Amino acid sequence: MNNCKFCNNEVALNKLTSEGLCSKCQPEVTKSIKKHVDIIQDTFKLAETTDNEKTYVGLLSLILKNLKALDENYVSKGINATNFNIKQAIKEIEQEKESLTATKSVVKTK
Ligand SMILES: [Zn+2]
Repeated sequence: MNNCKFCNNEVALNKLTSEGLCSKCQPEVTKSIKKHVDIIQDTFKLAETTDNEKTYVGLLSLILKNLKALDENYVSKGINATNFNIKQAIKEIEQEKESLTATKSVVKTK
């Protein structure tokens, strides 16, 4: 017996998918991961084309939200959600966001 990485239910090893999921979780997990990845990719495209810094920071936040959801719900459970290092991506985007908002607070009077 083995456990599904997502619901943690015991499943016979030959019933687990190659990703270590049971047949019930596999379609849902795949769909949900795809949804997050699609949002991340679309948002990245928007972020690349915007000239508005406020919009850009907002888009970065949206990317971060989806990356963190993937990390917490799937990657932390050992499910291979992305083909890139998600922790590294979160770190880099957080740093970029911080550097932008830090510049802004200097401009502000308060
Ligand atoms: Zn499952």
